[in-house]
Amino acid sequence: MPQPLSRRSFVTRAAGALAVAAFSPAFLRASSEAKKSRLGVALVGLGSYSTYELAPALRETEFCHLTAVVTGSREKGVKWARRHKFPESSIYHYDTMHDLARNPDVDIVYVVTPPGLHRQHVERAAAAGKHVICEKPMAPSVADCDAMIAACKQAGTQLAIGYRLHYDPYHQELVRAAVGTDIGPFTKIDTAHGFTLGGYNWRIDKALAGGGPLPDVGIYSLHAACMAANADPIAITASENPKQRPDFFIEVEESINWTMEFPNGVRASCRTSYNEGMNHFRAEGPNGFFELDPAFYYRGLQGRTSKGSLKFPEVRQQAVHMDAIAKAILANRPVPTPGELGRRDVRIIEAIYEAARTGGRITLG
Ligand code: NAD
Repeated sequence: MPQPLSRRSFVTRAAGALAVAAFSPAFLRASSEAKKSRLGVALVGLGSYSTYELAPALRETEFCHLTAVVTGSREKGVKWARRHKFPESSIYHYDTMHDLARNPDVDIVYVVTPPGLHRQHVERAAAAGKHVICEKPMAPSVADCDAMIAACKQAGTQLAIGYRLHYDPYHQELVRAAVGTDIGPFTKIDTAHGFTLGGYNWRIDKALAGGGPLPDVGIYSLHAACMAANADPIAITASENPKQRPDFFIEVEESINWTMEFPNGVRASCRTSYNEGMNHFRAEGPNGFFELDPAFYYRGLQGRTSKGSLKFPEVRQQAVHMDAIAKAILANRPVPTPGELGRRDVRIIEAIYEAARTGGRITLG
């Protein structure tokens, strides 16, 4: 039977609980964050995207900077610490990510590992009380996405997805055109994104990648089509193309075509492949058209509409994207590209695979 608490033991227990709360990861993070004008970022996974895009971008950002890394190679971590001028004590291994909780120089953990590892790395970052940016695709399954969103909610931290194109002026213009009446609304969308994948890569390992080109690059077509339709799809049909290199693409598709039906009869035809270079986007409707070609590169996007060609200053997408997220966190506002958006796209990807497997029309409620 529970014993009534004496006043003294109540006070002792309450003080203990307060002390625990005061040293909880979330409390430590919030109190150090409040004093900052620039947030510290730890990159998890020092592969090509971290090395050639995110690290250089973090030299240009105004509201965040690189303060730590998580890597399987201590030697690589030391090189990064020297090059980017953070202490060697801020080098972590994937298995020691919980120690990030004690590092006040880290506010945001940016997960840049293969998608099959995103969930465990996001959960570890959240358990350390840190905000998280997770690369696309968010995860191989909706169930993983739900667990990642729940982990960050429980930790009281924000979860953002690395949708760099959300912050690119050409794609922002697409959003503006889609909701306006000078060029939009659009009724027909046509888009493709693909490249030729060479030697062995985690991208052909289903457990690590979650699928083939669809979650890797087809996701850009899918995402832009939702922006142009200004809605989420209500039904999907899809077909996988016969493999030209079946001995290489054993676990994942080599190329896949799909259509998305949106409310009000809007239709998007999309293609993706690991065997063909494709990079375009076109939306049209009764008032005009909007076209991007190339549409999804890091740099050098080109666009035109029925009103003439588009010309925006070149931005480093990764820098504006990380700054927008850091600014939102500093202002205690929701991030612009939250986990829920990543989850929506993973749900559509699951429906595309189901449509291709069954040959049926899959409806999304
Ligand atoms: P990469 O193979 O170059 O790097 C992956 C990193 O993860 C490496 O440092 C590797 O050592 C590490 N890793 C840890 N455990 C691993 C394991 N079990 N197997 C393989 N690698 C492991 O890949 P990348 O191209 O840098 O892609 C990383 C993430 O970034 C992916 O989610 C990818 O979709 C995403 N990405 C996004 C963009 C974009 O434009 N937003 C561009 C490229 C990649």
